[in-house]
Order: sequence, then structure tokens, then C-alpha cells
Amino acid sequence: MENFDVNAASAELQKFMKQYDREHSIADLTPTFCELLGIRKPATCAASAVASVVDHAGHIMDGIGKTKKALLFCADACGNVQENYRPDVFQRIKAVAGLEIKSTCVMPSVTPVCYGSIFTGTPPAVHGITKYEKPVLKVETLFDVMAEAGLNVAIVAINSCSIDTIFRQRNVDYYSFRTDEMSYQMTLQLLRENKYDVIISYMTGYDAVAHKTGVDSPEAKEELELAAKRFEVLAETMDECWKDYHRVLTFVPDHGQHPVAPTQGSHGENCPEDMQVSHYYRIR
Ligand SMILES: [Zn+2]
Repeated sequence: MENFDVNAASAELQKFMKQYDREHSIADLTPTFCELLGIRKPATCAASAVASVVDHAGHIMDGIGKTKKALLFCADACGNVQENYRPDVFQRIKAVAGLEIKSTCVMPSVTPVCYGSIFTGTPPAVHGITKYEKPVLKVETLFDVMAEAGLNVAIVAINSCSIDTIFRQRNVDYYSFRTDEMSYQMTLQLLRENKYDVIISYMTGYDAVAHKTGVDSPEAKEELELAAKRFEVLAETMDECWKDYHRVLTFVPDHGQHPVAPTQGSHGENCPEDMQVSHYYRIR
């Protein structure tokens, strides 16, 4: 990008970190993975690697940049406020992961804008998606630099969702399905086949159900439980199929969701419910 100003971009991310008194942005995930994998950052990356994650990996792996395999489980709208609805579920996620990085979103806090920032390391004004729309991103993404480094990457998601559409036209393989369950089963299959170095696996469940039935409806809470269950099984499967590799599993929500009526949920605003999320890292 010709007029890319790294300081201005960084300040835009920090604006929300200051507002919510948090040390990290969701955009920090990209530079963190670049350090873990020992690859360069995307050209317009303005976020900072999470030192506690990088240091922990360096300690366990006896050196930096030694991660060989990674699975990123992207559970839509599983923000911090959701923990109040099912504390047990988030305890399980934390137990699997070990590291919780409390972070802030970008605005507007909607899926393509947030995952755009998460996987480019830069604010919406730079990556180009500034409202709810799903064009193919024109800036470099984490997936471009992974592919350039020779890593085999798979993106597994629901047909036509943000993650299925905005990262197209990269040197990665796309698996798209009609249901979360099919995406999840394919993720397990890809782990067992061991063809990929990095797998992105998306789950729309909680977000979709909470929008329609309310953020703490029984149906929505069941989707939170299902997200934790899948995360646990993915961790077990990864430990089995990738046991010979330095590996990282991450639980990657994009934003939270707030109630707008007893039976309806929404997000996209600059409020704590939408803007506060954690990324959870399991390093082995
Ligand atoms: Zn979302």
C-alpha cells in the first residue's frame, strides 16, 4: 500500500485497547503467528506480537520460530460477555488452552471487519473492509506470508461466510460446506491425513443462533457448549496426529454479542459486550 502509515494504523488499534484498558488487540494474532512460525509479517501489519505467547512457545520449543503446525478454531461471537452465560464452557476452553490473551476488537465489530483485522494485523481502514461486506481482501494476509514460506494452508468454513470469501485468491486450499458439523468433520479428517501445516476452522453456531434466539437462550448456550466440546476434541486429535511436531492450537473469536431484545442478539457497536474478546493459545 502506497500511503500506508504504520504509526497511524497502530494508533487506530490502540484506541480501543486504551478505551477498554487492555494490552492487546485481536489484530495481534497475525504478528504473533508470524513469530511463532518464523516467517515475515504481512506488508501492512501494524499490530504487535503477544510477547507472553511468543516467550512461552520459545521456552517450550527451545527457541523462537519453531512452530511447525497450527490449528486456528474460529468460533464466531464467543466474546468475554458470553462467559457469563456458560462459565463452565469457558473454564473448559481455558483448561485446554492454558494461555488467555484478553483483547479488544476493531470497529465496526462485525465478522468480516474483525477477521479482516485478525488475519492481516491491521485496522479496517487499511485492510479495506470497513462495514459488513465480504469482498476479497487486497492487502497481504497471514495466509499470503504463510504460503510464501512454503506452508500448506487449508481454510475450512461454511459456504459464503466471511472467512470463506474474504481470503480467496490465495495460494491456499478452501473447503466450504453447508453446515458447521461438516466443516468440523473435515477439520478432523485433515488433521488425520496430515496434509496441511496450518488449518483454519470456522464455526458460525453461537453467532447464528444467538442472533435469532437471544444471546443467553438455551439454544445459544448449547452452541457455546458445542464450541468447547469441538475445541477439546480438536486438541486431543491434534496431540495424536501432530504429536511429533511443535504445534499451536488457538481459539479465535472475532467479537462478542449483546442483547437487543429478550430473543434477539446483535453486534457491531463500540460496547464492552461486542468489543471485548479473548484469544486462547495452547502450545505443545
Ligand atoms: Zn462474527
